[in-house]
Amino acid sequence: MFDYLIVGAGLFGAVFANMAKKRGKSVLVIEKRPHIAGNVYSEKIEGIDVHKYGAHIFHTNNKQVWDFVNSFAEFNRFTNSPVANYKNELYSLPFNMYTFNQMWGVSKPEEAKKIIDQQRQEIKGIPQNLEEQAISLVGRDIFEKLIKGYTEKQWGRSCKELPAFIIKRLPVRLTFDNNYFNALYQGIPVCGYTKMVERMFDGVEVKVNTDYLENKNKFDDLAKKIIYTGPIDAYFGYKLGHLEYRSVRFETELLDVDNFQGNAAVNYTDAETPWTRIIEHKWFTFGKDENGNELHKTVISKEFSAEWKIGDEPYYPVNDKKNEELYNEYRILAGQEKKMIFGGRLGEYKYYDMDQVIDAALKCADECL
Ligand code: FAD
Ligand code: UDP
Repeated sequence: MFDYLIVGAGLFGAVFANMAKKRGKSVLVIEKRPHIAGNVYSEKIEGIDVHKYGAHIFHTNNKQVWDFVNSFAEFNRFTNSPVANYKNELYSLPFNMYTFNQMWGVSKPEEAKKIIDQQRQEIKGIPQNLEEQAISLVGRDIFEKLIKGYTEKQWGRSCKELPAFIIKRLPVRLTFDNNYFNALYQGIPVCGYTKMVERMFDGVEVKVNTDYLENKNKFDDLAKKIIYTGPIDAYFGYKLGHLEYRSVRFETELLDVDNFQGNAAVNYTDAETPWTRIIEHKWFTFGKDENGNELHKTVISKEFSAEWKIGDEPYYPVNDKKNEELYNEYRILAGQEKKMIFGGRLGEYKYYDMDQVIDAALKCADECL
């Protein structure tokens, strides 16, 4: 009998397994995919570390989390600065003085502020949805060119139906600073995410290609406690109805050119282009492989957003009111499962970044171990 069975070899599972092992507990990890690392999994194509499930840039303000990940991998100094392409007009992201200069020709913070203040007047009172929130942060021009098309492709819903908090993830700055994240620490593991997670699992038994829900009773008998990091609604057989998720289809190509778009991420913010963004993976490591050798080819991934249906990979929880209410009902059911702990982006149905998942797993380990 194991002390812990961990369902899912993503970051939450890996961090919890690592802590449990350090504290002398016996642990078994099962993962339904053929590999570890969950959505941060990356694999080498022609020496290029390809983020298989979408671009992952580690960023955090949490020193404890930063020290924790650095104990498994050295991080480079990559700083995310995506470019927005709106019908071939290029803009700097996030919304900063370069963006305002490109949009309105202004060169001083005071001039940009004046335009934004004028444009935000159309919103009276507290913003009630993503559209109102966006206009009240940056005005209508930027909303129309850089937010509306991208957001409606990404979420498959009108900006008027989406929660305001989603757009508050992006910084708005009256400085010439195009660092996408407000984070003290940022970077990409030099050895790749998969290696970093492999080190977290050091000394822990991990079985891949193993689906917990297909043999739930058998697995339940194997351990005293179970950490479940899959979708909470799937655990309950969707008996209250399914939660909504967005899925993503990635079209990845190896190209025999050394520079396709000159940046790691280019967002296509118009409504007509079918993909949301194109990632050129080699720029996460400055065009070099792990040993510092120049990479001569390139790998790009186009991301196509789609509504999730049973059988697809659930990537993004849709944290609107309707889904939050359903999630709360599942949470009540989860509270009655004494042997179970639900964790991670799918287990808690939260739009968690990597650092938040790691923080949550460390806290969970402190509480239960
Ligand atoms: P997951 O990585 O989803 O791991 C859960 C694991 O459980 C999966 O491997 C799954 O296969 C397994 N599983 C599920 N059900 C079962 C079952 N029944 N039996 C066995 N195994 C099961 N965060 C950032 O900080 N920076 C970024 O730049 C960033 N970019 C992102 C881009 C995209 C496209 C996406 C989707 C997410 C991004 N994130 C980013 C968020 C990041 O991926 C998550 O915070 C993190 O990976 C979540 O870890 P997790 O362990 O909770 O979940
Ligand atoms: N967003 C946008 N235009 C962009 C990039 C992002 O309108 O060019 C909006 C979009 O609604 C997105 C949200 O900002 O869902 C948060 O963006 P982030 O890059 O944090 O999303 P993620 O990395 O999770 O896909």
